[in-house]
Parts: sequence; structure tokens; C-alpha cells
Amino acid sequence: MKEFDYIIIGGGCAGLSLAYELEIHEKLKDKTLAIIEPREEYKRDKTWSFWKVTPHNFDDCVKKNWENFSVNILFFKNIKEINKQNSLVFNSVPNIKKNHLNLWQHFCGVEIKTDNDIFDEKIFNLMDFDCEQRESVHFFYTLPYTKNRALVETTWLSKMNDNSQKDYENQINNYIKNNLNIKNYEITYKEEGAIPLFYPLNKNEKNKINIGTAGGMTRLSTGYTFLNIQEHSKYIRENIDNITNAKKFEINRKYQFLDEIFLRVLEKNPEKMSDIFFRMFKTSPKTAIKFLSNKSNFLEDLSIIFKMPKLIFIRALFD
Ligand SMILES: Cc1cc2nc3c(=O)[nH]c(=O)nc-3n(C[C@H](O)[C@H](O)[C@H](O)COP(=O)(O)OP(=O)(O)OC[C@H]3O[C@@H](n4cnc5c(N)ncnc54)[C@H](O)[C@@H]3O)c2cc1C
Repeated sequence: MKEFDYIIIGGGCAGLSLAYELEIHEKLKDKTLAIIEPREEYKRDKTWSFWKVTPHNFDDCVKKNWENFSVNILFFKNIKEINKQNSLVFNSVPNIKKNHLNLWQHFCGVEIKTDNDIFDEKIFNLMDFDCEQRESVHFFYTLPYTKNRALVETTWLSKMNDNSQKDYENQINNYIKNNLNIKNYEITYKEEGAIPLFYPLNKNEKNKINIGTAGGMTRLSTGYTFLNIQEHSKYIRENIDNITNAKKFEINRKYQFLDEIFLRVLEKNPEKMSDIFFRMFKTSPKTAIKFLSNKSNFLEDLSIIFKMPKLIFIRALFD
């Protein structure tokens, strides 16, 4: 059976970001890497957006292609095909037990092409709460790529098993027709997914490091994971020779704590969330973006906290 120095389980965002980071920094020069990925082929299935707070390897990704980093990397469909006994394993498959109490961010987005120039490509609509809430938190966002192309996404923060919210097609059609006032459009791409707003049960073991969602890289208040994955990849690459003894990389505890309180408020007061997000950005959009991207300082944190409705947050603190 084949043996490898490194094994990455899951060739998704975290797995491939790590492989790429290792490759471009020549950490695979005299090492071998296997990626375990059951997918038969890669199709576009996600649109990653993030706040541009730090440079990363994929700033110019539209110009990159996979062949660039295939030298010492082999793909396998099943971990049983290789011997992992002497390898350092990076796992990106989350261990999630179905629990009806868990909150998820679930969503569906379509890229549309309109007949006329409708969008202002310089501005995107981050959160539009002018839609049915159904006792959860529901908003749309619209990312215009050009004057006649945009991604329109319906997003819910709720308990996953609530299928009553998954009439996505209707929601999107209604929103495009009634809120965006677009009568003629063509759907050119569709994505659907769910991000756990809780930490999966994966634990780091000897010679096994969890990455991506499995490694706790998701900000629970927003579902944002992409930039944290890039930072984690960089951390692993910098410490690759001693990574099993290096300090565990995690989202700053401050944000973990604040996100937990935030989600408690959200569960108890879904109807208040549009106001809460509005207040957060009212502080100063730059501060809010830094806060949501784990880059805020103490004073910036305080300025956001002071904008929040005090009573419900204090109650959530003691829940
Ligand atoms: C549709 C969608 C849009 C998103 N958009 C954003 C965004 O705009 N910004 C942002 O910051 N975050 C976003 N996220 C959240 C997060 O960035 C993504 O979920 C990201 O893909 C997480 O990376 P990952 O490697 O942890 O998981 P994935 O990318 O899901 O990779 C896991 C891989 O493991 C493979 N796999 C599954 N089971 C096995 C197995 N048993 N053995 C081996 N491999 C297996 C899967 O096929 C998959 O390729 C989005 C998520 C989704 C679902």
C-alpha cells in the first residue's frame, strides 16, 4: 500500500487551500501528499465571498489552474486505498451529529443575467430583511458583478430540520420580481448549502489536525470561513515541521465568546436581528468588517458592544 508524508482528507476549500499553500512555499519539494476526495469531478458549487482584510493566495485565483500544483500530490477516492500509519493527516470532514437544537445558516443563491442594465456594480446589498421572516432570521443579499449580472441569495439562520423554509425557488423568484423589480432574467448558476453555526465534534489527535469547518474555522455569527481557512493554511505551512506540537490554531477566543452570546440573542429574539445587524454596521462599516473578520482591536469591540441593545445581550450572557 502507498505511503505519504501528508494526507489531506477532503479536497474542498480547506484541503486544497492547504495543499496550495504548502506547494507554493516549496514544502512539498521532498515530501509526498495524498488528497482523499470522493467527488468524481469538480464543478463550480460555491461562491466564496470575504472581506478583503488580508492578502491571501487566491487574490488572483481566476487566473490560476490546478495543474500548477500537481507535482507531489495524488488524489484518492477512499482513505482505505493508502496506508496512513506514518503520515501526518489533515482532516476537513466535519463530524456532525444531527441535533435538532443546532443552528445552521442555510441558503440558496442564483446568478442571474438580466436583459437590461439594472445593477449598480459598485454597491452590493449585504442584508435585506425586507422578506418573510417566519419566526426565524431571513435576509437576501445581492452581489452585482456587472450591470446585468448578479448573485442573489436567500439566507436563513435557523434550525436545519425546518424544511418549511426551503422553498428557495419561490423565495428567490418573488424577491427578484417584487423587491428588485426585475421582470426578465435568466438563471446562469445556482448554489445551495448549509453552514453549521456550531463547532463540529472533531478533535485533534496525534498526527491528525482538523482543518476547515471540521477545524472550527467558521465564525459562528456569520458563517464566514474562507479567510480563516487561508490563515490556518499559512499557520500550518509555517509550522509544518513541528505542527503536531505547535499551539492549536483557533479563532480568537474573544470572538468565540462574543459569537456564542450573539447566537443566544438570535435564538431568543429573531425579530430583533435586522436592527442588531443595522446597529453593528452603523458603528462604522470599517469597524464592523474588522470585527466580523477577526481583526478588530479592543476599542473597536467596545464600540460595537456599546451599540447593541443592552438588556437582551445581558440576559443572553446569563442564560
Ligand atoms: C454554498 C456555500 C457557499 C459558501 N460561501 C462562503 C463565503 O462566501 N464566504 C465564506 O467565508 N464561507 C463560505 N462558505 C463556508 C465555507 O467557506 C465553505 O463551507 C468551505 O467550503 C469550507 O471548506 P471545507 O474544506 O471545510 O469544507 P468543503 O469545502 O465542504 O470540503 C470538504 C470536502 O470533503 C469531501 N468529503 C466529504 N466526505 C468525505 C469523506 N468521507 N472522505 C473524504 N472526503 C470527503 C467533500 O467532497 C468536500 O470536497 C460557504 C459554504 C457553502 C456550502
